Amino acid sequence: MTIDVVTIFPRMFFPVLDESIIKRAKAKGLVKINVHDLRKFSQGKHKKVDAPAYGSGGMVFRPEPFFTAVEEILGEPVRSRPKSQALRRVILFSPQGRRLDQKSVKKFLKYEQLILLAPRYEGVDERVHKYLADEEISIGDYVLSGGELAAMVFIDCLTRLIPGVVSDSESVKNESFENNLLDFPHYTRPENFRGLKVPEVLLSGNHKKIKEWRLKQAVEITKKKRPDLLK
Ligand code: SAM
Repeated sequence: MTIDVVTIFPRMFFPVLDESIIKRAKAKGLVKINVHDLRKFSQGKHKKVDAPAYGSGGMVFRPEPFFTAVEEILGEPVRSRPKSQALRRVILFSPQGRRLDQKSVKKFLKYEQLILLAPRYEGVDERVHKYLADEEISIGDYVLSGGELAAMVFIDCLTRLIPGVVSDSESVKNESFENNLLDFPHYTRPENFRGLKVPEVLLSGNHKKIKEWRLKQAVEITKKKRPDLLK
């Protein structure tokens, strides 16, 4: 899978993309991530990407640099794209978007290429929402200063689902939100920490019992912390 990000702050991405799981996924060739500077796609000598909102308000990202960026990345005019069969998807980060969750992240695994648009300020000209983005994603009901962090959240939770990225594929299958459950509790050494003991069953070596205990715990925790998932 190839992920292209279009942003005015490419450097924000490097510390995140060059560490840990994402770094290894890139090194293994399981994902390719290109970060593009939006300003490079702006015409005019000052490379301006924003302008005051018509009708008053703050600064808004202009449509032209985003359209040009997507066209250059795709190598074809935006209007000629057969949306229905596309293996490539243009995603705009916006508080108005569909709220990201584990189920919706998985849906993106089928694409060959994802182009992520990360605006700032008051947001981006409505024509980008309407005519350039295939979909809009929100990472939660709060307002960030820009789409960069949202794009990084998206890249992180998607990349770890790409087969081969997380070495223990079983651990991904048992994670929170799988089967509408939260994760079960995890314990490690020492067995007794300041009088707080690890549940006996985990020390028993009886894998069947451990499995049953974990499922029961996951159900209890979900009932208590996120009953909405069980509905
Ligand atoms: N005027 C916009 C509004 O009220 O909905 C907020 C703009 S926000 C300051 C700037 C940019 O941050 C947005 O265009 C979007 O790309 C990004 N952003 C902010 N909150 C977000 C969220 N919850 N999910 C995804 N992107 C977000």
